[in-house]
Amino acid sequence: MTNSKPEKWPDWLPIRSELAELTPYGAPQISGVTALNTNENPFAVPREVVAQMLTRLPEVLENLNRYPDRDATFLREALANYINKSTKSDFSISNLWAANGSNEILQTLMLACGGRGALGFTPSYSVHPLIAKATGTDWSAGNRDDSFDIDIEKATAQIAELKPGLTFITTPNNPSGTATSFSDLEKLASATKAVKGLLIIDEAYAEFSAEVSAVKLIATYPNVVVVRTMSKAFAFAGARVGYAIGDESIVKALLVTRLPYHLSSTTQALALVALENSPLLLAEVAALVAERERVARELSKLGFDVVPSSANFLLFRGFKVDSPEAWKSLVDSGILLRDVGLEGYLRVTIGLPIENEQFLAAIAALKP
Ligand SMILES: *Cc1c(COP(=O)(O)O)cnc(C)c1O
Repeated sequence: MTNSKPEKWPDWLPIRSELAELTPYGAPQISGVTALNTNENPFAVPREVVAQMLTRLPEVLENLNRYPDRDATFLREALANYINKSTKSDFSISNLWAANGSNEILQTLMLACGGRGALGFTPSYSVHPLIAKATGTDWSAGNRDDSFDIDIEKATAQIAELKPGLTFITTPNNPSGTATSFSDLEKLASATKAVKGLLIIDEAYAEFSAEVSAVKLIATYPNVVVVRTMSKAFAFAGARVGYAIGDESIVKALLVTRLPYHLSSTTQALALVALENSPLLLAEVAALVAERERVARELSKLGFDVVPSSANFLLFRGFKVDSPEAWKSLVDSGILLRDVGLEGYLRVTIGLPIENEQFLAAIAALKP
């Protein structure tokens, strides 16, 4: 939930009528507080990685008169290597696409393949329906149950009925943190394949999860596209790098709707250095998972109801006041959480241990 109200557009402004009621995506930005609201990785890029980036930059900067490599060849190769190593797979550069954050990947996909509409299961990542609106893609919403699980029988029936061009699954899901099992993903892959639709699996938090990656479905189900990001596990949100793994023909379709030279040479160069150092950048993932489990235990001890999470955040409820009031009271104590618009719930991103301690101290005042 954001605090913004729909804009009153001047009558000379020809904004598309279907967009007139929308408000920009974004969490409130408040300075001077401990921000645990956007699922960033709290660990800074290690000094030695920064030093390597600086040695790489002069060559990039001297060549800024030239367009970047349109096809991001080296970067896609490095991403394929990373995925192959971490998931024991055998993808090549023709299975990879990269863009300015996974949000741009999602937009490019909708532009290319959204003609028959899209289906998602809420509550989930609210940017999916927002990009659908902005790209003129019809959006249908299926449901998750009270535990944020997807009823696979119902979901596959809905897919058979609606025949969407795109079906979205976020796993681990945002804002709940819950994961969809590999066997359920396979059922969805089969149901979407039967209606000649794509299954887009948003794995923004995959590195924090113990589930097998959906990339393992691609060989059998060429209609599966896995979308990943370097923003969360790689601690690289500011650089804006997301990517997709899928069948060659999907990558070819993305080439049609991507903007020419969409990924700057600076971004490509910095991301390459980051991937060369992936063990260093990913080193804190295990520490964040351990902190997640510790914070979940502490919240439960205080009497809160915590949703089991496979990501770098926790969704929880049980405040003695309603959640907007709890959110406000936490801001007053210097802690910024996310009100995701689910009644009774707030979402906390796992921060540095000291930040998590501040959070736990502040939240104790709101226990049931
Ligand atoms: C954070 C997030 C993204 C966006 O990541 P960027 O790569 O930074 O654009 C995509 N999907 C989900 C579910 C996310 O939570």
